[in-house]
Amino acid sequence: MEITLKNIKKKYGSTVALSQFSCTFSDGEFSSLLGPSGCGKSTLLQLVSGILKPDEGEILMDGVPVDEACFENINIGYVFQDFSLYPDMKGFDNIAFPLTNQRKHGCSRKERKAQIAAKVTEIARLLRIEELLGRYPRELSGGQQQRVAIGRALVKEPDILLMDEPFANLDKKLANDLRDEIREIQKKLRITTIFVTHNQGDAIAVSDRIFLMESGHLMQEGTADDLYTAPANLFVADFISQFGINLIRRDEAAQYGLSKVTELFAKEKNCFFVALRPEQLMLEPAENGGEGYTVLSSAYNGLFAVHTLQKEAVRLCAVGLMPFSPGETVTVSVKNKMFGFTENGNKINS
Ligand code: ADP
Repeated sequence: MEITLKNIKKKYGSTVALSQFSCTFSDGEFSSLLGPSGCGKSTLLQLVSGILKPDEGEILMDGVPVDEACFENINIGYVFQDFSLYPDMKGFDNIAFPLTNQRKHGCSRKERKAQIAAKVTEIARLLRIEELLGRYPRELSGGQQQRVAIGRALVKEPDILLMDEPFANLDKKLANDLRDEIREIQKKLRITTIFVTHNQGDAIAVSDRIFLMESGHLMQEGTADDLYTAPANLFVADFISQFGINLIRRDEAAQYGLSKVTELFAKEKNCFFVALRPEQLMLEPAENGGEGYTVLSSAYNGLFAVHTLQKEAVRLCAVGLMPFSPGETVTVSVKNKMFGFTENGNKINS
């Protein structure tokens, strides 16, 4: 199901949660709403689910504007951060619950029971929780509880799957495994999915399309690659970068050993800042301890090292394959890829 939001405005008292918000979530795609806490992601999800009503604007499902009555006919699966399972029901009954209220005409009670059991078993197999169906939520780990909650959302074969920070209460390894499995299941079932997260790594790992938000506005939408390689503004460049960005004033770059920055943006009179991703900086030990940056720290995880460097007032973050020793002096050069921005943080086209 394709979901379109047109000029949506939503306020809570005097707080504007969403402002002139327009976007389209494509049928069968995995879309992520990404942004810092408080930027309006959950509000948007609740509008799509019909829990909230917009103050202005409209929501269309497959091109048709929806009102409260229509929402009752849209099959929506919703997964929350805190699992929200029924504590007095076993895993099986929690998953089966959305089906128990669904009537099937021409079907005896016994036949319906068998159909529900078959459906729950199928979903449990997909989520690898068949052995856990006889347990109460209190007898399950956080990850297992979330699997049950996802099963409950999937069992009624929803047109739309909405997930609000579903992995936030799980430890990282478990969260990553479950995230990747959900993505595989979503691809198989082709459910239109909207996933809310503040974690850029999660959004990059699973999304067909990312909608990056800030203060109730859409900053940029696109694939992870679009946002990484062609950020629309400084906010996007910084948010989508695992280690943030290094921001340097163009007119100061040469004095800090980054003459390539000055060269590349020489003709761009509007260019005030240049953003350098940590992975775009190449470091070499300075010959005979010559002029360069001092390594303040160099954290190595066996795969790569994250370095903090300082030269006078400028501090840089760089990522490389090998660690340096704190106190060592290094020279810094820049690979071609860098972005210029105006003083207001808008990208300049170069
Ligand atoms: P996010 O999901 O990105 O963290 P939310 O949609 O929850 O953001 O919130 C967007 C803004 O609306 C925030 O400023 C938040 O404080 C405010 N907000 C959310 N829900 C309510 C509410 N029920 N009452 C008042 N303000 C709210």
